[in-house]
Amino acid sequence: MKLISILKSKCPQCEKNNIFNSGGNLLLFRIPRIKDRCNTCNFKFEKEPGFFFGAMFVSYALAVAEFIGVFLLAHFVLGLSLLFSFIGVICASILFSTFNFKLSRTIWIYLFSNTDTKM
Ligand SMILES: [Zn+2]
Repeated sequence: MKLISILKSKCPQCEKNNIFNSGGNLLLFRIPRIKDRCNTCNFKFEKEPGFFFGAMFVSYALAVAEFIGVFLLAHFVLGLSLLFSFIGVICASILFSTFNFKLSRTIWIYLFSNTDTKM
């Protein structure tokens, strides 16, 4: 299923191999690395230089949705003050950073991958 493959960052064509080499590590400030091609089906992930520039917009949309969700949860469900709700949002932005990085690029690859045609 596509949605599960997106969440697991799998190749859009074969849905078997990972798009990223390493998961990245938040504590070591290591960002996940994207492979050039899929090891299984040779699908090219970065279609052209600067291809992932557009993934910033996906990342932005994801981040805004998460921040609104965290803020609403902290302020209205947990009943925290405005200040602590915003601190929660800041903590969430740090925690979600590598997740957003991977997810936004994966969504971007899926948006522009025509999986019916072999490359
Ligand atoms: Zn593949």
